[in-house]
Amino acid sequence: MDITPPGKIRCPKDATIMEKLTVGNSDLVVDHCGRCGAIWFDAYELERTLRAKEQGVDLGDIDYGTAKNNYEYKVLRDDFLECPRDHSKLLQIPDSRQPHVIIDLCRDCGGVLLDGGELKDLSEFTLKERLFTLFKNKK
Ligand SMILES: [Zn+2]
Ligand SMILES: [Zn+2]
Repeated sequence: MDITPPGKIRCPKDATIMEKLTVGNSDLVVDHCGRCGAIWFDAYELERTLRAKEQGVDLGDIDYGTAKNNYEYKVLRDDFLECPRDHSKLLQIPDSRQPHVIIDLCRDCGGVLLDGGELKDLSEFTLKERLFTLFKNKK
């Protein structure tokens, strides 16, 4: 396997080196997998991205995943995914109202992985509701 370049991380699903993408015109940069379309958000980055979305920022540049991509990588879902930062096991949190949206959360660093296309379906409200419950249970 190639060496991961400094500052870059690998996609937890297919080990592809992720590219840095800027959210709209903001200073927010997320890691995106060009192979499966997954997006990695470090702690608070997803929250900031969803806030930008609700302020009308077009997220089409960072989330252009398709149903085909999701199907292709579904097989890997049977295994647990590892946090690209600290290699903890990511926790899978399905959304009760949108079961096709599964948030993979690292409870150690607060990072979140979304599959391609999921960002479009997720609202800040949904996210907060789910994550707050989890972090409350932790301590
Ligand atoms: Zn990937
Ligand atoms: Zn982590």
